[in-house]
Amino acid sequence: MKHQHPPDGVSQGMKLPICGHWYTIRIVDEFEGEGQNLTGRVNHGTHEIEISSKLPTSQMEEVLIHEVGHCFLYHYGHESDQRAKARIERENTLDAFANGLYALGVGAFLIEKAKKEAKP
Ligand SMILES: [Zn+2]
Repeated sequence: MKHQHPPDGVSQGMKLPICGHWYTIRIVDEFEGEGQNLTGRVNHGTHEIEISSKLPTSQMEEVLIHEVGHCFLYHYGHESDQRAKARIERENTLDAFANGLYALGVGAFLIEKAKKEAKP
């Protein structure tokens, strides 16, 4: 798959203050230690969000919203149920919110905010 360039001005030092914690946002070519079908992932231990560089910019924005949504749920204790059905329901709900918020321009807003917080 052809690698997309990150949106203009996107650096690897993007940060967002999510639920009062600074999360680093990285655009990555590969997800270390995982299957390559992922579009994004979040690590609540290291406060890092990774987004696949293979995605078009529009989908990067949507994936970022999805991962931010995981943070919202995690910090209120709603990610602890790891049963398959609960996980699938969470993913589906986050996808619906991510798409709706993306369409309202929230993804572009988050990218701009994350760029401003970047430490080059
Ligand atoms: Zn997810």
